[in-house]
Order: sequence, then C-alpha cells, then structure tokens
Amino acid sequence: MNDDDPIHIFRKGESVITFIKSFGAGIGLSLAASYAAEIDAKHLFYGVHKDDKVFNENNREFFTLMSKAISIEIGTEFNVHTPFLEKSKAEVLKLGYDLGMPAEETWSCASNSSIHCGWCDPCQDRINAFRKTNLNDTTLYENSLVKSSSNA
Ligand SMILES: [Zn+2]
Repeated sequence: MNDDDPIHIFRKGESVITFIKSFGAGIGLSLAASYAAEIDAKHLFYGVHKDDKVFNENNREFFTLMSKAISIEIGTEFNVHTPFLEKSKAEVLKLGYDLGMPAEETWSCASNSSIHCGWCDPCQDRINAFRKTNLNDTTLYENSLVKSSSNA
C-alpha cells in the first residue's frame, strides 16, 4: 500500500468503506468543535486510544495544536482532551468494566450497519480487547451470524 492511498475496509473480500487516511481525526474534531462552539462548550473529550496510533495525527502534539486552532477560531480557550491516549483498547475496556460501563451500549464498528460487522479493524480491535481482558463479549457481530447460518 502506498502512503497516499486511502484506507479500505473489507467485508468478505469486498471494499465497503473508504475513508481519507490523512487528517481523519482532525476532520472529526473540527465537526465536533463546530457543534461545541454552537452550544458554548469549552471542552471536547475524544476517545482515541494507544492502539489508534497507526494514524500519525493521534499524538499529544496534534491534539494540543488542534486545541489552539479551535481556540483561535472560537475566540476563547478550548481544550481537546484525550484521556485514553496512553492506554490500549483492552485497558480502556477493563477500566470501563471496573467503572460499571455497559459495554453492550458502546459502539466500535466503522461499518454503516445496525449491528457490529465483526470484520472491520475497529471490530477486530474490540474483539481482541475482550479476548485480552477475558471479559465476556456479548456484542452481536454480523460475521458471527453469517458463520452460524452457514454452519446450520
Ligand atoms: Zn465493524
């Protein structure tokens, strides 16, 4: 893969999602900051974690600079917080579990589906995080349904 190529997420060998590799967090944070400014919020919490560092922008310097850029735009101090930046997805899952987080109400999938697909990278990260923590994963994954129906 060339560094300039967009990332493709595959399902059953077919590309279902293509997104821009560069500045994805910046685009998302810009949209969120625009809404935050509308509701007069001064803080934005972004759930990026250590395993997301495959993207160059997911580092402390980038988020500090994004906070500055947003502050300049809205004319008052604004902070992007990334409390999980140094924790793995498994560590975040375990922390959430310890705090009573209902994992079944969280979303990881990058697919545009009503249930987790189980094939995309975020779903694979989720599945691996549950395995690493030995927590019971009650998530309904589409790929499990396909496997179950093909085995019937
Ligand atoms: Zn998925």
